[in-house]
Amino acid sequence: MPQKRKLSGSKLFVKKFGGTSVGSIERIEAVAEQITKSAHNGEQQVLVLSAMAGETNRLFALAAQINPRASARELDMLVSTGEQVSIALMSMALQRRGIKAKSLTGDQVQIHTNSQFGRASIERVDTEYLQSLLADGVVPIVAGFQGIDPQGEVTTLGRGGSDTTAVALAAALEADECQIFTDVAGVFTTDPNIDSSARRLDVIGFDVMLEMAKLGAKVLHPDSVEYAERFRVPLRVLSSFEAGQGTLIQFGDESELTIASLVQGIAINKALATLTIEGLFTTSERYQALLGCLTRLEIDVEFISPLRIHEDDPSGRVSFMLAEAKVDTLLNELEGLSESLALGPLIIERQRAKVSLVGKGLQAKMGLLTKMLEVLGNETIHAKLLTTSESKLSTVIDERDLHKAVRALHHAFELNKV
Ligand code: ADP
Ligand code: ASP
Ligand code: MG
Repeated sequence: MPQKRKLSGSKLFVKKFGGTSVGSIERIEAVAEQITKSAHNGEQQVLVLSAMAGETNRLFALAAQINPRASARELDMLVSTGEQVSIALMSMALQRRGIKAKSLTGDQVQIHTNSQFGRASIERVDTEYLQSLLADGVVPIVAGFQGIDPQGEVTTLGRGGSDTTAVALAAALEADECQIFTDVAGVFTTDPNIDSSARRLDVIGFDVMLEMAKLGAKVLHPDSVEYAERFRVPLRVLSSFEAGQGTLIQFGDESELTIASLVQGIAINKALATLTIEGLFTTSERYQALLGCLTRLEIDVEFISPLRIHEDDPSGRVSFMLAEAKVDTLLNELEGLSESLALGPLIIERQRAKVSLVGKGLQAKMGLLTKMLEVLGNETIHAKLLTTSESKLSTVIDERDLHKAVRALHHAFELNKV
């Protein structure tokens, strides 16, 4: 029989702190101080922590030195350790302040995922242990980003996945709110580190937030937004550095901005590359072989040109965009396939970025696309690729033009005004 969840009258919050928020001893002490105050105010709290800033990258880099083709299972075993450092340190900092606290791995909590190492999905969270700790007045401090699969293997949820851990715990515990504490004051109209005129939104609708997250606004992991909407978890993004109300991700269609302003934000995705393969993609078999290769390597691509077999156009050129970090892996694989596929020359263009205007009802508005191209043109920025949908207008540009492009678009679409 599960124990009673909340102490009567007290609210339950799941609070997630990202890498920068626990990135040093000073930051851990500052968060511990904040949690202690809230505990003294009678709040019930479950913490979810990321690894200290830079740690997960450091662990991936170590693996790359040993074996650039390390198995996903071993990578997960390795990179899941980053979070175990921060949770133990936080527990020590709270205990020193007289707060009962306990650090817990995904296995100890029983965060069940599927077996997709490196990009696992949470399927179920057991709450009995957490509930018993809460009932005993203990603050559970859970390692973000990790879970266990049906075989008991350690899995991780993909970069930035601690957000999803927090939302999944909040859903399972029926918390009053899931609070994502980070290094900015909430969700802004665009990345405030790219454009200082970006404006914090008091509220943003789930659909626009999800689109922003999918298109690169890393303030929330897309899975966490999807999960929160599905399980109706009240979700808020706040700063761990300063007080404030942050941004509430809102259900329904009541986002702060009215339909009069169709474009609600600008999302950015950096470190992309385009790959063009010249020649001889003139049969569907070769095209399928390329797609098979991408699937095998789990490489997501965008803007892939459709297969066009024209007898009068022997170029058979295929181009697509992928993460720059995946280019070498793909080239290695293509080298192997080169003979059987009879590949032509490859053209790689690195340092590309994608800029997306995000909102609602955008596709029907050709004027928006014209305006976007005009704004970029005035800045002598060349839009290399374009795609549109109901909720976004995306373009690919040179990464060196990114700041200029975002500032010009943000200004032109008046996103700095309420
Ligand atoms: P954490 O380590 O706390 O998980 P992240 O680095 O994953 O933090 O996410 C926070 C960062 O997201 C901010 O520092 C900011 O640069 C970036 N960001 C991108 N787009 C936005 C946006 N629209 N609003 C707020 N932050 C954004
Ligand atoms: N530590 C992991 C990462 O750096 C997960 C997270 O921070 O959410 O991606
Ligand atoms: Mg993050």
